[in-house]
Amino acid sequence: MRAQDLKERVVYFEKLQTQLDLAKEKNQHFGLVLIDILNYREVTSSSGLRAGAKLIGQVKDILLPMTHQSDCVIQTSETALSLFLPGILNENHLLMAAHKLQRLLHSFDQMVEMRSRPKCSIGLSLYPNHGLAPQSLLQKSELALIDAIKEKKLFSIYSHQLEVSHTRDRQLENDLLMAIENNDFEVYYQPKVKFSNSTSLEVEALIRWKHPDRGFIPPERFITLAEQIGHISRITEIVLKVVFQDLERLKSVGIKTVSINLSVIDLRNSDILDAIKNSMSIWGVSPEDLVFEVTESVVMEDEFNCLENLNKLRELGVGIAIDDFGTGYSSLQYFKSIPATELKIDRYFISNMLTDNADLHIIELIISLARSFGMKVVAEGVEEEATFNRLKTLGCDVAQGYFFAKPLPLEKVLDWITRFNSAGSKKA
Ligand code: C2E
Ligand code: CA
Ligand code: CA
Repeated sequence: MRAQDLKERVVYFEKLQTQLDLAKEKNQHFGLVLIDILNYREVTSSSGLRAGAKLIGQVKDILLPMTHQSDCVIQTSETALSLFLPGILNENHLLMAAHKLQRLLHSFDQMVEMRSRPKCSIGLSLYPNHGLAPQSLLQKSELALIDAIKEKKLFSIYSHQLEVSHTRDRQLENDLLMAIENNDFEVYYQPKVKFSNSTSLEVEALIRWKHPDRGFIPPERFITLAEQIGHISRITEIVLKVVFQDLERLKSVGIKTVSINLSVIDLRNSDILDAIKNSMSIWGVSPEDLVFEVTESVVMEDEFNCLENLNKLRELGVGIAIDDFGTGYSSLQYFKSIPATELKIDRYFISNMLTDNADLHIIELIISLARSFGMKVVAEGVEEEATFNRLKTLGCDVAQGYFFAKPLPLEKVLDWITRFNSAGSKKA
C-alpha cells in the first residue's frame, strides 16, 4: 500500500471489506491476489516514468479478463497491483485462477518484445480459509508474494507451511545478522591438484558458519539468504580479511594462489572493487596471489554493470574463474566478453563422465573451448581415481575434489599440503 497516501489505504480496505461482507453473505470464498511488477524500477530508470506507467497499464489489461469489474484491479504501490476474485469456490478453484493468470501473462509475452515485457510475481490468499479480516488476508497474500519472489516462481498461494518456513527464515536471518556483526564465520580451504605433476599449489577458500543450535548451515543456504537481505558484501569482506590474514601461512607451505568466491550481487556495484583494492594494499597482497570465482550468471546480469566491474577487477591483475561452467545459459556471444583466466567445469558433468558419454563430450568441448581462449581448466568434484585419470588424458590442468581432500580448516590444510607435496617430490 502506498504509505504516503493514507486515504488510498482506507479506500482500499473499505473496498476489500465490502467484498468480504458480500462473500460472507453469499457463503462464498474470495481470492485476494497481489501482483508485483519486478522490473518496474528497471524500466523507469532506463526508459522513464511514462514507460513505467505503460507497464502498469499493460498488467492491468492482462488482469481484466480475470474479473468482470474494473474496480477489482487496484494499484496498491508503485510496483504492485491487487486483484479481487469474488465467487471463488475453494482452494482448488483459486489454484485454477492462478494458472489462468499464468496463461494470460504467458500469452501476453508472445505479443511484446522482451524489453517491454512485465516480469511479475504473484501472491494469493483465500477468504475465509486464510484470514477473515482485510488486514490479515492482505498480510497472507503479501507473505505468498514474498515467497514467490524469493523462490523465483510466478505465483505462490498462502499456506500454513509457508508461514512456518517464513518464521524460520526470519529467525535464521536474525541469527545471520548477529553472526555478521560478531564475525562468527570460519574459512576452510580445499586443495587443488595439478594433473601434470600431482602437486598442490592452489586452494579455494570456502566459508563455514556454525549456527549455535542448528550446527553447520550449508553455505548455499546462508549465502542466498545474505544476498536476499542485502548483506552479502559484508560476508565477502569477512572472507577477504580472513584469507588475507591466512595468506602468509598458506604461502609458507608452497601455495601460490587462493581462489575466493564472489556473489554476482557483489559485482553489481563498484564498492567491492574498492574493498578488494584497500584490503590488498593493507595486507600487502599481490594480484598474482588471487583468483576470484564468479558463476556464469554475471554475464546475464549485464544490466547491473557486472561485466564492467569484472573487467575492472581483472585490470587489477587478479585471475578470474568462471565457476560451475556448463550449467548456466550464457551464449558463446556472452562468453567471449568475460575476462576470465580459468574455467571450472561443474561437478555435475564430472560425476557423470564415466557413465554418460554425453557428459564426457561436454567436458571435451569445454576443455577445447578453454584452450582456444587461453584459459586454464579446473575440474571440480573429482571423487574417484578413475575420474582423475580420465581427466588427465583429456588434458585438464587442475583437479579439485574429495578424492584428494575435503575443504579443511587452516591448520589441517597446511598440514595436508606439506605432506602431499613432500610425498610428491619424493616420488619425482
Ligand atoms: P562452489 O564455489 O562450487 O564450491 C565447491 C563446493 O563443492 C564446495 O561446497 C565444496 O565443498 C564442494 N565439493 C568439493 N569437492 C567435492 C566433491 O568431490 N564432491 C562433492 N559432492 N562436493 C565437493 P560448499 O563449501 O558447501 O560450498 C557450496 C557453495 O557455496 C559454493 O559452491 C559457493 O557457491 C558457495 N560459497 C562457499 N563459500 C563462499 C564464499 O565465501 N562466498 C560466496 N559468495 N559463496 C561461497
Ligand atoms: Ca567456487
Ligand atoms: Ca563450483
